[in-house]
Amino acid sequence: MLFTDLQLIEPILKALKKEGYEKPTPIQQKAIPSILEGKDLLGTAQTGTGKTAAFAIPMLQNLSKNNNNHHHIKALILTPTRELAIQIEESFKAYGANLDLRTKVIFGGVKQGSQEQAIKRGVDILVATPGRLLDFISQGIVKLNQLEIFVLDEADRMLDMGFVHDVKRIIKYLPAKRQTLFFSATFPTEIESLSNSILNNPVKVEV
Ligand code: AMP
Repeated sequence: MLFTDLQLIEPILKALKKEGYEKPTPIQQKAIPSILEGKDLLGTAQTGTGKTAAFAIPMLQNLSKNNNNHHHIKALILTPTRELAIQIEESFKAYGANLDLRTKVIFGGVKQGSQEQAIKRGVDILVATPGRLLDFISQGIVKLNQLEIFVLDEADRMLDMGFVHDVKRIIKYLPAKRQTLFFSATFPTEIESLSNSILNNPVKVEV
């Protein structure tokens, strides 16, 4: 199977070609069609499987289709570390290079000024670590009331790093009507119950 078999729009195919991608990885083959249909997804996948593109590509396509050029936050990707957050931001920028969607990243451990300015200039896709996101929500810098798609990445690492309480607080700010994509390499009880509580009839993808 090739990316050209996946009903992707030309601007995305062009960007993938530029990245040198021809064949979707197994998780991409399984996840992309379901995410394009707007379904919730439960993915059992580690980093290195092409997981990021598996969610970024269909999200970019769906967001570009109902894009009204108002740069408010339509998608949120929560991830546990600064390194992962930056990688995910770079992936969205690469695959979305030919689309009018802005991706921004926020994470803790640095002054908030430049991240705050970037958000205020307008963002469609926000990649964030939990603590800094909660700071920005409480200061009114980030508003999630128009969110359409929520991704929880590396949920089990969120648990290991002590972020589950923060994640649950963030979920309370999200509109109930949304698409949710949930990724974890393992499913300890607490992650299992978190996934059950936030997913709606998900498609399950294992790699
Ligand atoms: P990830 O699992 O998302 O961390 O991705 C692992 C690496 O594989 C990243 O460096 C991606 O750029 C690369 N990659 C993802 N999908 C593909 C693909 N279909 N073809 C070639 N490389 C890919």
